[in-house]
Amino acid sequence: MKTFQNFIAGQWVAPATGEYFENVNPADRSDVVGRFPLSGTEDVNRAVASAKRGFAQWSRVAAPARGDVLRRVGDLLTQRKAELADLMTREMGKPLRETSGDVQEGIDTAYYAATMGRQLSGRTVPSELANKWAMSFRQPIGVAGIITPFNFPLAIPTWKMFPALVCGNACVFKPAEDVPHTGAVLVEIMLEAGLPPEVIQLVHGAGEVGRAIVEHPDVPVVSFTGSTETGRMVGETCGRMHKRLSLEMGGKNAMIVWEDADLDLALEGVLWGAFGTTGQRCTATSRLVLHDRVHDEFLSRLVDAARGLTLGDGRKKGTDVGPLIHEDSRKKVERYVDIGQAVGADLLCGGRRAAGKSLDDGFFFEPTIFARVRAGQRIEQEEIFGPVLSVLRTSSVDEAFAINNGVKYGLSSSLYTRDVNLAFRAMNELANGITYVNAPTIGAEAHLPFGGVKQTGNGHREGGWEVYEFYSETKVGYVDFSGRLQRAQIDNYLGTPD
Ligand code: ADP
Repeated sequence: MKTFQNFIAGQWVAPATGEYFENVNPADRSDVVGRFPLSGTEDVNRAVASAKRGFAQWSRVAAPARGDVLRRVGDLLTQRKAELADLMTREMGKPLRETSGDVQEGIDTAYYAATMGRQLSGRTVPSELANKWAMSFRQPIGVAGIITPFNFPLAIPTWKMFPALVCGNACVFKPAEDVPHTGAVLVEIMLEAGLPPEVIQLVHGAGEVGRAIVEHPDVPVVSFTGSTETGRMVGETCGRMHKRLSLEMGGKNAMIVWEDADLDLALEGVLWGAFGTTGQRCTATSRLVLHDRVHDEFLSRLVDAARGLTLGDGRKKGTDVGPLIHEDSRKKVERYVDIGQAVGADLLCGGRRAAGKSLDDGFFFEPTIFARVRAGQRIEQEEIFGPVLSVLRTSSVDEAFAINNGVKYGLSSSLYTRDVNLAFRAMNELANGITYVNAPTIGAEAHLPFGGVKQTGNGHREGGWEVYEFYSETKVGYVDFSGRLQRAQIDNYLGTPD
């Protein structure tokens, strides 16, 4: 079995703790991907000290040249796409077409970042005084702490690190403990592309490593994606220490299928939205609101289709749905099935561990659908992060929108309709960071801002142009070339004393 190391101070090194953990394939727990460092605070301290040196060097490289490194990263990811998808599926279970998409998102993010190296613009605006210029420009911040989850093992780290790097920051990266292999290969690729070694530090381990990064006084900017509970702790620390923080957390995303919808399209959409990545996406469709008139027909077709999904190893041809990430998350899903049954929701399919040849060795769970769910019930309110869909019904637009908006999260929403007025009304009134029309709640594109309102985030966005603001400080420069003292707000626009 291969033993992997941290990448600290320009070298692949063992953790100071001397401890390691095993990373297993969730589709077959007897298949161990490798041993990875269970690092501690000392490793983080070394990584941050080195990243500060990396920052001193990298922040002086011109932004277009920084972008060129990211272009080469994009080229290498493209060359190794199939190999990466395979190792990601082995490590976290989702089918190859999904892990290929995950790599493609990394590629798109790299090429977008490369072009942004030439677009990190400020503004030049008129000064209120004559013979004086006023302008803003961007400066790098310092060492960025990057803490990521398992469900998009490549895309999410790239969403965070590539913009951070183009903006001139150095990164200390802690991938989720379920996907350290992908994290390691991504760092190898970044180094091969020509990133100066001390600009990137990779520290493997559990939550303790994340906490040490967040608490380190020399990490002024932190980007976190993960659960709302962990995000709250990260937020408390960053608030106390006056750090810049981007949080991307949970979702309880609804799809509304209206009476005039194309039902074939909606059916395909909800299957993909609810059961893709085994429901382990922050944008997963976990609630389905059906118009009364289409409710019965749509639901019966949906249940048939869900029963027909093929569970299995994501590396096998024909697999629709892979395993959950580990046993704890399967137990959590089981608890929610009990909670749903206890309040009298109708369990129409699934609700149990998937059994049978080649499924017994992995963390499989059957696609699960609850009908007759009512707004406010726990399965309708709380993020399950598994293949569980709660179905509600109504014939009132106001009620459908209120159901969508009646949760503490606000990531994505979806409406299937042919009514253009209703579609635009939904985009206005659904309380989410992203609303899809005639598409499921998943499917973000790398060049648009990504994020949610309410307890999904803290107001920042990943992706697109907005994340570049997050990773840079705005600096303002005034140049007075009048040759005399001009007092802002006191002297007048004509440059003559009042
Ligand atoms: P998920 O349930 O989606 O895996 P978590 O919030 O548990 O989400 O984990 C997301 C990331 O946060 C992982 O890399 C994890 O190791 C890290 N993490 C866990 N606990 C902490 C903590 N207290 N501080 C910082 N990071 C943490």
